[in-house]
Amino acid sequence: MSSSNLPRYVDPRQYAGDAVPLSGRYALADLRRIVAASVASDGEVGFSLNFRKEGARWFAEGRVEAILSIACQRCLEPYRLVVDREVRLAFVSDVDEASRVPDAYDPWILDDGRVLLSDLIEDELLLAIPDIPRHPDGTCVAPASSDGGVQAPHRPVAEAAANPFAMLASLKKASDPENSKENAD
Ligand SMILES: [Zn+2]
Repeated sequence: MSSSNLPRYVDPRQYAGDAVPLSGRYALADLRRIVAASVASDGEVGFSLNFRKEGARWFAEGRVEAILSIACQRCLEPYRLVVDREVRLAFVSDVDEASRVPDAYDPWILDDGRVLLSDLIEDELLLAIPDIPRHPDGTCVAPASSDGGVQAPHRPVAEAAANPFAMLASLKKASDPENSKENAD
């Protein structure tokens, strides 16, 4: 589904148990925080989500895939970050409940029992961006600086991810380095 055919909000209860995953694409240019974190925002993010209920809680599992153009924090040139991220979300009603979700899942706090779908996909993409994005070691060098000092890297990603869920999920992400892979291209 293109973004124009996707539901703006998703109620996990409504999709739980559907045999066909909810899937679609968004233009990266339509995702404001991705635009802020990227050098260029052409291209799309594709996603696929299966919703299910277990006990009293709803979960979503699936993938997000995109190629992002991110500024390398070493050489400051753009590099391609290939995102192929497994999504594992547990839907909760508040921060307190979020602290109790199983370790393998990221908590997602529902807003009136529903999810702003583009927000969810955007958050998953942001979580796939390394804290210090850069080309693989040995493939680029920092630009020579006129005063010989070390240049302070700018951190657009940290600003872009300014919501409580993203912070919480970042903490979880720290123990799970398998969420993204870098491409030296
Ligand atoms: Zn670089």
